Amino acid sequence: MRIDKFICDTINITRTQAKDRLSAGRISVNGEIICSPGFQIKESEDIILIDGKQISYSKYVYIMLNKPEGVISASSDKKAKTALDLLSRNDRRHDLFIAGRLDKNTTGFLLITNDGEFAHSILSPKKHITKTYLVTLAHSDFSGYKEKFREGIVLQDGYICKPAEFTEIGDDRCLLKITEGKFHQIKRMFASLSNEVTALCRVAMGGLNLDKTLNLGEYRFLTQQEIEKISSQNAQK
Ligand code: URA
Repeated sequence: MRIDKFICDTINITRTQAKDRLSAGRISVNGEIICSPGFQIKESEDIILIDGKQISYSKYVYIMLNKPEGVISASSDKKAKTALDLLSRNDRRHDLFIAGRLDKNTTGFLLITNDGEFAHSILSPKKHITKTYLVTLAHSDFSGYKEKFREGIVLQDGYICKPAEFTEIGDDRCLLKITEGKFHQIKRMFASLSNEVTALCRVAMGGLNLDKTLNLGEYRFLTQQEIEKISSQNAQK
């Protein structure tokens, strides 16, 4: 890989800025100052320092963000604040996208990555990876809900949803596990039961729960073990 590309991808600066740092002699590879932007490096072997500080390259990154209300699940928007705007400048690589969008007023676990294959593998309904939502509803008479969700809710447009797992958790709240991600899916599922979602929070993707220590708007990088948990089915209690 060219060193200028490596620097841009790793610390999220422009090619011009990378070239400026190179020509200023601020970058070394294995102890040798490198000025040429086309210099080839082996990103997994070479030791690259900028201003004496080592930087390392991850081909793929996986970020768990606790999405607040009012933020949209898009990479960019002219008016609204996007989930990617919540990342610090250093973490905002140009190739990041949101794997599994949430509505503007939904909160909770938003996965941000640059790994398209992984995103597809956890979002495709064929893979049956569950997404778990904490749902607050306008009406708390849930009689028959468990069976109806298990059989497959019919939306108002006639679409038959895949079986979902409904668990009442007291008052006006429930947990719902679904394996697909149609537009406004959960709101529309409850609407077809003549109920209304008043608050929605995604609390798990596959077997990985939202980190409760993350405040709304905060994020962190996932470990390899956590990434694997997303692809596994049983959420940790
Ligand atoms: N279902 C919805 O209705 N909204 C979301 O944000 C996610 C699932």
